Amino acid sequence: MQENNQPVVNLISKPENMLKTVYTACRTCYSADYPINIYNSTDDEEKMLKLIERVISSGHYSTIEHIQVSFAIANVSRACTHQLVRHRHMSFSQKSQRYVKEKGQFDYIIPPTIERNPELKEKFENFMGQIASQYQEFVEAGIPAEDARFVLPNAAASSMVVSMNLRELIHVANLRLCTRAQYEIRLLVKKMCEELVKEEAWLKPYLVPKCERLGFCDEDKSCGKRSRLTRDTGN
Ligand SMILES: Cc1cc2nc3c(=O)[nH]c(=O)nc-3n(C[C@H](O)[C@H](O)[C@H](O)COP(=O)(O)OP(=O)(O)OC[C@H]3O[C@@H](n4cnc5c(N)ncnc54)[C@H](O)[C@@H]3O)c2cc1C
Repeated sequence: MQENNQPVVNLISKPENMLKTVYTACRTCYSADYPINIYNSTDDEEKMLKLIERVISSGHYSTIEHIQVSFAIANVSRACTHQLVRHRHMSFSQKSQRYVKEKGQFDYIIPPTIERNPELKEKFENFMGQIASQYQEFVEAGIPAEDARFVLPNAAASSMVVSMNLRELIHVANLRLCTRAQYEIRLLVKKMCEELVKEEAWLKPYLVPKCERLGFCDEDKSCGKRSRLTRDTGN
């Protein structure tokens, strides 16, 4: 089921009462009242957001760990999922290349730099065809899929369910929305953030590249959107 070259991302699970839960966690730290009374005490969004921003800005991140979200992701390359799985506070269930045998031409992702060059695109597609033929030959010769897959490329499309708490999602967004991140994971994380923001608009200011939260760029090679932080080395 090859879509276009874009990640397919759907938010499949999130708490109903996200904002109130985070607010209750924040307020509980500074209140003599029972948390359940705090939870039931207000629906004032502005008041809740003000406190949440203060608490998050001061680095009190446990308050956003109570929220868990899950996404269904498809049509991303193995090169992309390999980067995503480096994040250690996410949970993954990924389509197995051991249990799911490819039949005929496997789905693959073409990077835009190759896609927009007709000559190179044709070479890329031919090469994917050759790999598919070699894979099929191995499978038909009785080689198990877990071994035949050794010839599959980074471009092979994959799918996964991924879950994380809000702290981790914000961290991943801050890192992977940065223009220094590779294009496909940037696109994937952008879509994850957009899916959540559609339902929880208050999260928009947090699901941004890190420079937007920091107010400066801490990357070695800056894209120039924000000025670089120059460290005082004391010399
Ligand atoms: C632009 C870019 C380029 C990259 N290039 C490379 C590369 O060339 N080679 C490469 O191997 N990787 C590369 N990476 C991956 C990178 O090194 C990290 O593995 C990945 O971004 C996960 O980041 P993280 O550890 O901050 O996040 P997570 O694993 O999501 O963890 C979140 C936070 O939890 C804390 N944490 C988690 N585990 C530990 C721990 N064991 N000890 C202490 N604190 C912990 C840290 O504060 C961490 O920031 C790159 C990443 C980016 C964004």
